[in-house]
Amino acid sequence: MKAITWSFGMQSRAASRVGEKPDLSGAVEAAARAGMTEAIIFGKDHTGFCFYPTKTGVMHPRLKINLTKGMSDELHKRGMKAIAYVNFGMDGEAARRRPEWRQEKSPGVYSTTKDHFADLCLYSGYLDEYLLPVLKELLTECRVDGFFLDTMSAFHYCCCPVCRADFKAKTGHELPLPEDENNPDWDLFGPYSFRRMTDAIAKVREYVHTIRPEAVVIFNHVGGPWIPLNFPGVMDGVVSCDPPAFFPWISLYSNYTSSLPVTGDVFVERFARGWGDRSANDDLTMIYKSAVIFMYGQRFCVGDRLHPEGRLAPGSLHAMNLILRNWRKMNRLISSSAKLAPDFLLLYSESFKAGKALKDFSRGKIYYPLGSYRLLLDCGRSFMVTPEMALARNLDTKRFLLLAGTEYLKPETEKLIRRFVADGGNMLVGECLPRLDDDSIPEWLGIGGEASEPYQPCLYLPDFRKRIADSERILVRGDVRKIELSTAEPLLYGYPQYDMTLMGGGYNSSAAEPADVPLLTVNRYGKGKVYFLNCALFADYADSASRQQRQWASDLLKKLWKNASFELESPSGNVEIASWRDGEKTSVHVLVNHGGRRNSLQYLHTSEQIDAPQPVYEVVLKVRAKAKSPKVMLNGKKTECTRKGEFLHIPVRMDDVWKIVKVTE
Ligand SMILES: [Zn+2]
Repeated sequence: MKAITWSFGMQSRAASRVGEKPDLSGAVEAAARAGMTEAIIFGKDHTGFCFYPTKTGVMHPRLKINLTKGMSDELHKRGMKAIAYVNFGMDGEAARRRPEWRQEKSPGVYSTTKDHFADLCLYSGYLDEYLLPVLKELLTECRVDGFFLDTMSAFHYCCCPVCRADFKAKTGHELPLPEDENNPDWDLFGPYSFRRMTDAIAKVREYVHTIRPEAVVIFNHVGGPWIPLNFPGVMDGVVSCDPPAFFPWISLYSNYTSSLPVTGDVFVERFARGWGDRSANDDLTMIYKSAVIFMYGQRFCVGDRLHPEGRLAPGSLHAMNLILRNWRKMNRLISSSAKLAPDFLLLYSESFKAGKALKDFSRGKIYYPLGSYRLLLDCGRSFMVTPEMALARNLDTKRFLLLAGTEYLKPETEKLIRRFVADGGNMLVGECLPRLDDDSIPEWLGIGGEASEPYQPCLYLPDFRKRIADSERILVRGDVRKIELSTAEPLLYGYPQYDMTLMGGGYNSSAAEPADVPLLTVNRYGKGKVYFLNCALFADYADSASRQQRQWASDLLKKLWKNASFELESPSGNVEIASWRDGEKTSVHVLVNHGGRRNSLQYLHTSEQIDAPQPVYEVVLKVRAKAKSPKVMLNGKKTECTRKGEFLHIPVRMDDVWKIVKVTE
């Protein structure tokens, strides 16, 4: 498990004094004692202020100390690395001095404020004339060891004169404008933006590495769930991303980054109210939020802030010690040689962000598979979210692959999946049929075509269990299309609405007779099987959180994949499992209690607390085991279990944020 790291944040305004009563050594000493090996310090914030005397940038007007170099020196004294935060896409001061550097959102429209941040265009001269020299100064004057470049708006659309001319020069077409939504040149803009972003990242990395070859260069979010594509430095460096600080984002991000080779930083900044403000953030919440990062072995980058006086506030010190204690407790129970051992892989498709063949890249669209995530979590499955760039390293015929909401597969990914199935892999495709570059459906699905228009806006599921008399079938909302099977066979049929029509504006009752359109199909391809679920169960669950849907999905997964090694039975879901293997004979299962969450009803992104006491869930962990009487430990103490067939059944009372079960055969 990676040690935690700290961000000594200092987003500022001109009126605030900075460094009036500094205790930089105290702040860094606390981090050193907490076992950290590096920390993020502030170089340049989004207002545009530098926190050191600068010749190229704009120094904070009320800065009393050399904060950046002071922190860097204190870290180095203790053998720690200093990573400088630099806001990459925003700089209010630069925009106020050089308006021609501003990002033009649409003709004549800029995102600027009077005395705070502004969005800048990287290609306007801002990067070359201003930002790169600031990075050089930080490396040479402040001796920092690398950068956390906060991308923010840096790679957003811009129609400034430079960007228009560049698009014209590269493509021969005029840059499409935002109001011209149906302009066919958007199809050129996506791949063009992707290449341009790749080039910009490569340029910054090269510039930094020329000055200091070993410097760390992190572009926030690049390669993470927000931008799930492969850019320079993503597969051989740390991927850092800051999720919205509420369920299920933190665990989704941690799970996602655990699929990458170097793994990632999950940078949680908005703990409670406002920006790093922990004034209403209690201990239980911090233990919970850190546990969902540690359960996947990821590094928690705590997005804290320094007191403007230049010292650690008492709340920060308390949080540091609390999170560290939690880390130590969990770390003791997960051996460093253990590796995550998911039974299921959930593909995090590039098309969620970039559409077909990158055509929607940089158009501000994104689809998050929140329903799939919550459904697998609530079904008690040990699963890994993997972006396409990490699929090859995680794909294994011992794992069941799930694609939900994937509209497009690029040739490399399609080839990987085809080989996986031919070699005996099993998978389920849900929501929609993925398309290839030529618009065809991959042959391993065994489905020749589908209607362009939906035939029903919802579907009722057939029963897996005995239904209570007169109760309605389980409704799944979302469009359903007619499909033409080629080699696939139908396995199940759903039920359309009564007389195939809505009841006014809402869904009509279920018809008595099933539809003639298959709900579930199977195609045998090579040694493997590909299932297709022709309804929007995964997406609908993001909204419905329906107990009936969960039960049905849980039954379905049991029927489709009998080789899973682990399963958690929790009456209401809400308990997440991450399973690890340590050699052939030991498995370790981290269970986290997601109960007791309280959210803002207005601003979901800023607050989520865990209220004490958390609900207690009585769960049963099922672990496939060959040995007659394996040793089972719960949080380091021996616990009871029973055997049912090939599985051990281990009852666990989830009366705490997390529990760790270790099974040794
Ligand atoms: Zn521009």
